Amino acid sequence: MKEEQLEKLFNDHETIELEFSGQCHDCKKEVNVIAQLVTEKDIVIEGGAVYQPNSNEEEFFVKCDDCFQKDSVLRNYQQIDVYSRVVGYMRPVGNWNEAKQQEFQKRKTFDLDRAVGF
Ligand SMILES: [Zn+2]
Repeated sequence: MKEEQLEKLFNDHETIELEFSGQCHDCKKEVNVIAQLVTEKDIVIEGGAVYQPNSNEEEFFVKCDDCFQKDSVLRNYQQIDVYSRVVGYMRPVGNWNEAKQQEFQKRKTFDLDRAVGF
């Protein structure tokens, strides 16, 4: 999380200590991240890392220290739609019924390189 975002939260909540709890985004371990405003310009963060990828939304993600050391970038946090063809139409797979979604899992992608020679 950017320093300005944290400073805004300190101001909005009129506090010098913020606590972010939740599951680590990567390993799912319970994490407690504490951010303290020590002096006017010094912020100390302990217990992990906090992410607020969409600064206009109140959505937070936390990472434990171990996962942050391995990879400090927050990945795969956005919901994405995969479109594929079902009964003749292109539709988001997430909207398909359960049976069709299972069928989608079993689909194989055509591999042109391996097909050469047929
Ligand atoms: Zn973790």
